[in-house]
Amino acid sequence: MKVGVPRESWPGENRVALIPSAIPGLTKAGLDVVVERDAGARAGFTSAAFERAGASIAGRDEVFAAADILLQVRSVPAEAGRLRRGQVVIGFADPLGSPDAVEAIGRAGAMAFSMELMPRITRAQSMDALSSMATISGYKAVIMAADHLPRMFPMLMTAAGTITAAKVFVVGAGVAGLQAIAQAKRLGAKVEAYDIRPAVKEEIQSLGARFVEIPLETTDAQDKGGYAKAQDESFYRRQREMMLKVVAGSDVVITTAVVPGKKAPTLVTREMVEGMAPGSVLVDLAAERGGNCELTRADQVIVHNGVTILGPSNPPALVPYHASQMYSKNITTFLTHLLGKDGAKKAGLELDLSDEITRDTLLTRDGEVVHTRVKQLLAAGARA
Ligand code: NAD
Repeated sequence: MKVGVPRESWPGENRVALIPSAIPGLTKAGLDVVVERDAGARAGFTSAAFERAGASIAGRDEVFAAADILLQVRSVPAEAGRLRRGQVVIGFADPLGSPDAVEAIGRAGAMAFSMELMPRITRAQSMDALSSMATISGYKAVIMAADHLPRMFPMLMTAAGTITAAKVFVVGAGVAGLQAIAQAKRLGAKVEAYDIRPAVKEEIQSLGARFVEIPLETTDAQDKGGYAKAQDESFYRRQREMMLKVVAGSDVVITTAVVPGKKAPTLVTREMVEGMAPGSVLVDLAAERGGNCELTRADQVIVHNGVTILGPSNPPALVPYHASQMYSKNITTFLTHLLGKDGAKKAGLELDLSDEITRDTLLTRDGEVVHTRVKQLLAAGARA
């Protein structure tokens, strides 16, 4: 059976789905790996390194035609026409944001799996690419903020005077937010953070940051999967009012607040930005989901009243070496899981749908969308 790794075609995507060190494990399991020429070049992995590790190198058409299983970082809807019946495609597909794209893959007859829909259970932790990529986003957000800030992060006592530590406020302390807190602390900043899930207060404090107490009723803020639940607009209005002072007093604000499948809540308004000191920086990690700040424009640098607002839509692509390394580990572990001990009946791909990981990530099969939530979104779209 052939595993194909195409070069990513999503704009700005520098990652590659598999890195050379993952290949010996796959060949040992009886899989041949074919990698598109220069697929890893932007991440620092040469075609020669892939060849040395045991892969063959081919052109794009050949990779798509030859592969029984395609490993991608991002499935691109325009490429659905290249897919064929029974071919397996694994990657990020934005199924809840772009259900139509999933439908197109389904129509091609391919069997698509979504890395985003990996259940958050202990058994799936090493396959959880959303978490590994969020770790990178949190780290990179702080580096970007530091780069744009006209101040330094650490407190320094020098012969030329004392430098005060930068004040960083992180809104949303999931995987990305916690890594942002840790990275800002590593650079010496004074860090505060807030999340609507009260459960994270201890995690914030254990990283040495202050939890900002906002007197809002948040007992019902978390769903069974540990994700935040959407709140009504009056909740977000009160949250904005209560965050106003902290935002105004911060040199750096990093927002990461998202609710799966929904537009990101607006937590920082134009007026709040106008309350910040000139030179301050806001990094909006929710940019791809519409942004937590009213002024965010994805992948643009906005300067408003001297405040810089960055909305990187794909920070892991800016750290492509390690992002590819982590993603490669996630996707190969998932592939090994899908194939199971009997190589999914020697790759007739008789999948075990009683398994939660396989069932929750499967999007399309036999020409149809089979994932319940994606089907619901498509039906709602058709009704609208
Ligand atoms: P996420 O990316 O969905 O959201 C980011 C953060 O924003 C979350 O912490 C969320 O609570 C917060 N948020 C949403 N609305 C907000 C608002 N109005 N104000 C402030 N904050 C707001 O979250 P995530 O990083 O994917 O993590 C969600 C949870 O899942 C965390 O508890 C995480 O530890 C857990 N998790 C579990 C596993 C596992 O068990 N395998 C793996 C990864 C994450």
